[in-house]
Amino acid sequence: IPLSRIRNFSIVAHIDHGKSTLADRLIQLTGTVAERDMKEQMLDAMDIERERGITIKANTVRIEYPAKDGQTYILNLIDTPGHVDFAYEVSRSMRAVEGSLLVVDATQGVEAQTLANVYTAIDADHEIVPVLNKIDLPASEPERVKEQIEDVIGIDASEACLISAKTGVGIPDVLEAIVTRLPAPKSGDPDAPLKAMLVDSWYDSYLGVVVLVRIMDGTLRRGDNIRMMRTGGKYGVDRLAVLKPAMTDVQELGPGEIGVLTASIKQVRDTRVGDTITHEKKGATEPLPGFKPSVPVVFCGLFPVDSSEFEDLRDAIEKLALNDASFTFEMETSAALGFGFRCGFLGLLHLEVVRDRIEREYDIELITTAPSVIYHVFMKDGEKIDLHNPADMPDPSKIDHIEEPRIKATILVPDEYLGDVLKLCQDRRGIQLDLTYAGARAMVVYDLPLNEVVFDFYDRLKSVTKGYASFDYQLQGYREDNLVKMQILVNDEPVDALSMMVHRDRAEMRGRAMCEKLKDLIPRHMFKIPIQAAIGGKVIARETLSALRKDVTAKCYGGDATRKKKLLEKQKAGKKKMRQFGKVDIPQEAFISALKMD
Ligand code: GDP
Ligand code: MG
Repeated sequence: IPLSRIRNFSIVAHIDHGKSTLADRLIQLTGTVAERDMKEQMLDAMDIERERGITIKANTVRIEYPAKDGQTYILNLIDTPGHVDFAYEVSRSMRAVEGSLLVVDATQGVEAQTLANVYTAIDADHEIVPVLNKIDLPASEPERVKEQIEDVIGIDASEACLISAKTGVGIPDVLEAIVTRLPAPKSGDPDAPLKAMLVDSWYDSYLGVVVLVRIMDGTLRRGDNIRMMRTGGKYGVDRLAVLKPAMTDVQELGPGEIGVLTASIKQVRDTRVGDTITHEKKGATEPLPGFKPSVPVVFCGLFPVDSSEFEDLRDAIEKLALNDASFTFEMETSAALGFGFRCGFLGLLHLEVVRDRIEREYDIELITTAPSVIYHVFMKDGEKIDLHNPADMPDPSKIDHIEEPRIKATILVPDEYLGDVLKLCQDRRGIQLDLTYAGARAMVVYDLPLNEVVFDFYDRLKSVTKGYASFDYQLQGYREDNLVKMQILVNDEPVDALSMMVHRDRAEMRGRAMCEKLKDLIPRHMFKIPIQAAIGGKVIARETLSALRKDVTAKCYGGDATRKKKLLEKQKAGKKKMRQFGKVDIPQEAFISALKMD
C-alpha cells in the first residue's frame, strides 16, 4: 500500500464527549463490521470500561474508506485511553500516528482532559481536526465552543466538523476530513532495517500476548525472528494480523502500517510500551527515541475480607497482572488484616479499576488500606530509601529529611464553584500557580502534594462542584517537606493498615478526625477501648469507646453491699483480662471510611 493512501489517527476527547460513539459510527459507516455484528462501543471490550465509560487499553481498528477522490484509503484508528493515570500510554500511542480528531461535546465545551490530551497530540506533532459532537442536543452551542477552542487551545476551529455521533449526522464529513486534512505517514523505507514501535500489548487467553505495532521503517513478515531493543527479548513471529477490529491475518506489514503480532511471548511484562522491535539479524542499531517505562506511583494493600480467600486473591492478582504490566504486587502481612498484597498502580483510577475487577470478576471482597505514594527518605548516613509503605518507615531519629512527590493539577470549573475549589486546594497544601478564564469557566493550576490527592480529592472535588469540575494532573518531581508517620492504636495495639504519612502541621487534625471516625465505626465491646493517634511514641489525639455495661449486680436483690462489691471487682478483673488478650473487631468499612476526610 502506498503511504499516500494510509492515514493513522487517534481520537482525543474528555471523558463522555463521545469518542467511543464516534469510533462506532466510523466503523459502521465504512461497513468494517457487518451490521448484524455491530454492538455499541465496539472498542470498549471490558464490562467495567463500558460501565464507567472509560477506555483503559488502547484499542485499534483498521478501516477501508473509498474517498470522494475515487481512491480507497486505509484508516488506522488508535483509540487511546481517556484518563490521566494512563498519560504515558496516551503519549506513546500518539507517537504511532500522525493526526488526531479532537472531539469536543458542543454542550460542554473544552474540559481539563480535552486540554491534556490535545497538548499531548500537539507534542507528538499531530495535525488536528476539531470535531464538535452532540449537535443534535438543543443545548449545543457549536459557535461558542469553536471560539473557545481557538481561545484556549489556540488551534483553528473555523472548519470544525459539526456532528452527532449518536444520530450519524456529519460522519461522512469526518471521514473526508481524515483523508484530506490529516497527513499520510512520513516516508518510511520498506528496505531499511526494521523499526517497529511497540504501541500496546495485552494478554489473550487463546493467543497469549498480542503486541500492537506501528512500522516506522523496514518490513515485518510472518515467521521473522525479532528482537525487542530495550528488553532484549527474542522471539519468532507466529502470526501477523490487522484489526478490523477482529484479527485478520496478513503476510507482511510495511512502513506506515499498524497491526498486531503474536510470538509465544509469555507475559505482558516482557513487552514494554514504547520499545522498538527490530529483526534479530541485520536489525536497526538505534532504537526509536523517547522510551520510558511506566512506573506505579500509588501503592496500597489489598487484603481479603475473608482470610480463607487469600489463595483466590493471589490467583486473581496474578491473572490480572498478566494483562497489565503497569500494575505491581508483592505479598504483605499485617497484624490486623492477615495475608494480602501490597500493590502499585499508575494512579487512583487504576487502583479502583483493579480493585473493582477483583471484587467483580473474581468475587472476592477486599479491604483496601490507605493509598500511599513513594517518599524519598534520606538517612543521616547518606542512604536513600524509596518508601512506599508507611509500615517500613525507618527510625525517625536516623532520618535526615523526607521528600514527597508533587503534581501540577489543572482544574476547569464554572465560576460559581471557584471559591470552593480554591479552598479545597489550599486545604490540601496546594500552591496556586495560575488562574485564568476559558470562556465562562475558570482554569486554575495548582502545585499539590500527590499524597493529598490520592485519598479522596476526586470525590471532594466532584462534591463541592456538583460534578461540574474537570481535573487533570502531571507528576512534577519531589520536594522536601515536614512529613511524619502517624500510627493509629486501637486498644493500645498499632493497626498497621491505618498508618499513614502526613504533614506534621496537619497531623493533629487528621489524627483527631481518624479517632472520632473510628469511635463511630467500631462497635462497643465488653471493655473500654482507647483509640489513639500517635507520632513516634507521642499520642496526638485520643478517643475512648466506652464499654457495653453488663450489669452483673442486677441479679443481687437487696442490699448485700459486700457481695455487690466483690462481683464488681470480678467484673473489673475480667475486663482487664479481656482488654489484655481481647481482640477488637474492627469492621472492614472502618478502614475505608476512616481514611476519607470531610
Ligand atoms: P467517551 O467517554 O468519549 O468514549 O464517550 P461515549 O462515546 O461513551 O459517549 C458518552 C455518552 O454520550 C454516551 O451516553 C453516548 O450515548 C452519548 N453521546 C455520544 N455522542 C452523542 C451525540 O452525538 N448526541 C447525544 N445526544 N449523545 C451522544
Ligand atoms: Mg469511551
